[in-house]
Amino acid sequence: MGLVQGARKRSPWILHFDTGSCNGCDLEVWALLTPRYDVERFGAVNKANPKHADILLITGPVTRKCEDRLRNLYEQTSGPKLVVACGDCASTGAPFHNCYNVCGGVDKVIPVDVYVPGCAARPEALIDGLVLALSLWEKRMEEEG
Ligand code: SF4
Repeated sequence: MGLVQGARKRSPWILHFDTGSCNGCDLEVWALLTPRYDVERFGAVNKANPKHADILLITGPVTRKCEDRLRNLYEQTSGPKLVVACGDCASTGAPFHNCYNVCGGVDKVIPVDVYVPGCAARPEALIDGLVLALSLWEKRMEEEG
């Protein structure tokens, strides 16, 4: 018997990486994993290994020290992979965009699929962004067969 109709072929696993944030957005991303916001209801399990992850949740402006780490992380993430820029700093670099030690937002280093605004990004906005990323991820899974 095949898969239950409407069921996903696999659950989207997530990995959170801080590229230089003040930790404000990190706290909100971690809140998603608590019973109050419970993103595991979407099948999103938090992982530490990029080879196990499908969706990267990135917080903070990208510091020059983190630039190569972020690129490596992206390259090691299994496909189809999605990137969510969580908060204003990750989306644009915000007040740090032209600091001597900052590259800018995440899209200055790797492709970004979903931008979630806010300083800090609120958990509700992050959930909206994650749900959008999930629908894009499922579409890509279908395209790849
Ligand atoms: S967007 Fe605001 S809360 Fe988030 S990392 Fe930047 S300064 Fe901190």
